[in-house]
Amino acid sequence: MTANIIDSAREEAKIVEENARNRIKDACKRWINRDFNAIPGSLIEKAYPVETLNDGEGLELLAGGRYECPDCGIDSDEIFDEPTNRYRCECGWEGTFEELNHVGAEYAYPAGWGTLFNPSNSSDDDWLRDNAQEVAKVGFLVYDCDETGILLGIDGGGYDFYEAHWTPLYKLRGLRWHDTD
Ligand SMILES: [Zn+2]
Repeated sequence: MTANIIDSAREEAKIVEENARNRIKDACKRWINRDFNAIPGSLIEKAYPVETLNDGEGLELLAGGRYECPDCGIDSDEIFDEPTNRYRCECGWEGTFEELNHVGAEYAYPAGWGTLFNPSNSSDDDWLRDNAQEVAKVGFLVYDCDETGILLGIDGGGYDFYEAHWTPLYKLRGLRWHDTD
């Protein structure tokens, strides 16, 4: 009997949690559909060939993708030394985040996923630029150029982008549409 009550309470808590998650996901979808333009990566690649990236004239990669040891190329995640907040590589190189080699997109340029996302709202544009490093931490490549403003890329595919990237970004942005709608 007691076990049944506990079970049903657990079941109910699970449903409440599931509903909250769905509400956030729905609100997040509304945000993306309403406030982001889908731009083909191939168009960006034609306008800004990879060899012109970060040359100060066109497309600039502000944050995201792969960072590696400048001497041996090992992934930065593997050499991060948490206590000192520095990177210490087995090859002998040691340095700060800023000194790492920023490779950016690994799978394809400008991103593995063929669509880039461009905020249509200038407050989103400003916020994404100001918080580029944080935005990169939830899995985005953050590009910027004079012609379009911020372009977000996802260097991968075949999984749920809402779960992995967009919902964390929605939370990071501090949006609360799921509470008020
Ligand atoms: Zn190294």
